[in-house]
Amino acid sequence: MKCFYAPETEAHDPKFRLTHGQIARNAEQAERARLLLAGVEALGLPVSDPPEAPRSALEAVHSPRFIDFLETCWDEWQALPDAGPEVIPNVFPRDAAASYPEHLVARAGWHMGDTAAPVGKGSWLATRRAADCAVAAADAVLAGERAAYALCRPPGHHTSAEIAAGHCLMNVSAIAAARLRRGHQKVATLDIDVHHGNGTQAIFYDRADVMTVSIHADPREYYPFFVGHAAETGTGDGEGFNRNFPLPRGTGDGPWLDTLRDALRHINGFGPGALMVSLGLDAHENDPLKGMAVTFDGFRQAGEMIAAAGYPTVLVQEGGYLSTDLTTSLESFLGGFLGGDA
Ligand SMILES: [Zn+2]
Repeated sequence: MKCFYAPETEAHDPKFRLTHGQIARNAEQAERARLLLAGVEALGLPVSDPPEAPRSALEAVHSPRFIDFLETCWDEWQALPDAGPEVIPNVFPRDAAASYPEHLVARAGWHMGDTAAPVGKGSWLATRRAADCAVAAADAVLAGERAAYALCRPPGHHTSAEIAAGHCLMNVSAIAAARLRRGHQKVATLDIDVHHGNGTQAIFYDRADVMTVSIHADPREYYPFFVGHAAETGTGDGEGFNRNFPLPRGTGDGPWLDTLRDALRHINGFGPGALMVSLGLDAHENDPLKGMAVTFDGFRQAGEMIAAAGYPTVLVQEGGYLSTDLTTSLESFLGGFLGGDA
């Protein structure tokens, strides 16, 4: 299995996080990449530096003004009086009549859905290189590889066409899925991160050529709260091509794997030519976000089941936060996938 990682992604090192009224250290730290790489290396998998992807691969899912904002906002922010070290919004356009603003503070509110995805000095470089990893993995699969893994950070699945949120900048999962469409009429996305993949859902919500499926902690009691419910099934041409499987917080291996089986059955009914998996590992029982209680063996079985589905598959790293178990979680999933493919 080809793996892609860009060391430049460590340039993104967000500090700010606001939880329950408390300012805390952001959980999406560069240290995550080192822990994940250790899992790849434990399996002896080769890791490649991705080439730069064309901007058109990003514009397949993001608006040009959003990409421009991410690229330029930090430099512009420094010119604000008493500017802080990171771009963090403090006003948001809630009115349906809102129009696109010129002022940087307002553009930050337009393009950032919450305060959990701060943009620092190296964030643009990192998200650009993370997108390069996602495109390189998709291109490897389009070129005939059975599967490829993109070690992306920052993650992406909470970001819609032009609103970043929840530790995510560009939506690396959606970029990989859209790239797979170059070689396949129908592509399915399967998001097993403990959080609902609301950005990916939004991007493909009105499309029949990309099915979006997500298994996650019930948003009635967990981020992203507002969407991710079972009643959301798509709109327009996309009606029937979005499927959500919310599960109670604390769900363990048995019901989680049963749900994964149902999700794969649903995807089989769609008959995609390729599969993109948003590989969040934060459903693990020891993840600091405490959403679910999946074990290493649960991840191994998930890897086996997804491989056994038999699709050309791109695995895109999403969540999974700081814990020494992150390494073994990835090793378990990828080991299961490689074993299930045998
Ligand atoms: Zn997550």
